[in-house]
Amino acid sequence: MPDLIPDTAAKPQAPIAFIDLDAQRRAIGARMEEAILRVVRSTQYILGPEVRQLEAELSAFAGVPHTLSCANGTDALALALMAWNLRPGDAVFCPAFTFAATAEVVAWLGATPVFVDVREDSFNMDPASLEAGIETAKRAGLAPRAVITVDLFGQPADYDALLPIARAAGLKVLVDAAQSFGATHHGTHVAAIGDMAATSFFPAKPLGCYGDGGAVFCHDPETLDVLQSLRVHGQDNQDKYENVRVGMNGRLDTMQAAVLIEKLRVFPDEIAARQRVADRYNAALADVAIVPSVAAHNVSVWAQYTLRIPGRNRADVLAALKARGVPTAIYYPKPLHHQKAYARHPIAGNGLPVSERLAAEVFSIPFHPYLDEPTQDRIISAMREVLA
Ligand SMILES: *Cc1c(COP(=O)(O)O)cnc(C)c1O
Repeated sequence: MPDLIPDTAAKPQAPIAFIDLDAQRRAIGARMEEAILRVVRSTQYILGPEVRQLEAELSAFAGVPHTLSCANGTDALALALMAWNLRPGDAVFCPAFTFAATAEVVAWLGATPVFVDVREDSFNMDPASLEAGIETAKRAGLAPRAVITVDLFGQPADYDALLPIARAAGLKVLVDAAQSFGATHHGTHVAAIGDMAATSFFPAKPLGCYGDGGAVFCHDPETLDVLQSLRVHGQDNQDKYENVRVGMNGRLDTMQAAVLIEKLRVFPDEIAARQRVADRYNAALADVAIVPSVAAHNVSVWAQYTLRIPGRNRADVLAALKARGVPTAIYYPKPLHHQKAYARHPIAGNGLPVSERLAAEVFSIPFHPYLDEPTQDRIISAMREVLA
């Protein structure tokens, strides 16, 4: 391999990063830069061999029959809903406490997002609220078609309760695994749960690339064929100048596939490292804040480490942490049913009180698999000082 620019030095006295992508880049080393340069020199920038290779490796990793890579997590969700032919008059149930993309794709297709509440212990969809939401949709004259479960902050949703409700109501289940790729529920990877799953490779997600990327996961070759067609303008997969449906341009770049192939090699170790950081935070912070709770049958990939401090003034706490050099973030400050773009859509039952409360209470602290113990300790001391 040719001369790569040597760049291994850690930045001295670096301030605490919320997510340190450079630490990971240094840990992976020259292999990554070699992989990128290989693609540059191959000139196969679109659907090059790395794209197929990545799809096969993701399927093997997650134990799911088929993976289709795509341009980002939002397109991944959209491709799944497009494959199901969602249309105006259809209701798709979404948690209100999530990133906007979950509901955005429903609105793109002219279908109606129906917002459902979440549970305060897991931050994930509340099964009772889903049942209420199905009734709300029927009363509004909508056809209940699908549910998008979100595995928020990396923990699988309560599938033991949600899947039977979905089956009984005839709903397709789309797992929004944008934050949870790599997580498991009773030992099954989230990508293999539900009728389809979608994930994102945005750089800050647990498995991220060096730009935008995403993937859809499915269980049968017929669905894969439709997704493949939708990804390239609804082409006939045998004859690309025949357009058999309305699709999109939703391909993953070959260069991002090459990046992800390298990142996937270290991903199992990173998941273990994430768990070690979470365990230390849990042990050190449980007496000063409500720490995240993960069900015994779930493995989380800890996309975020999110705490609650009911009864405390969150803005003051975050300002005090900032003054001590600890960056924080709020995911999410406003539930979707209160966002201007989504406020006109129906909500389940009589309201979504938990989503509203969580939006006012939660905050996340620095978290990534390369967060060393001295830095964890700086964060823990600042947290204990501010919250004690
Ligand atoms: C990040 C995210 C998405 C969208 O992924 P992009 O790759 O940014 O398009 C969708 N849903 C959830 C829950 C996310 O966190």
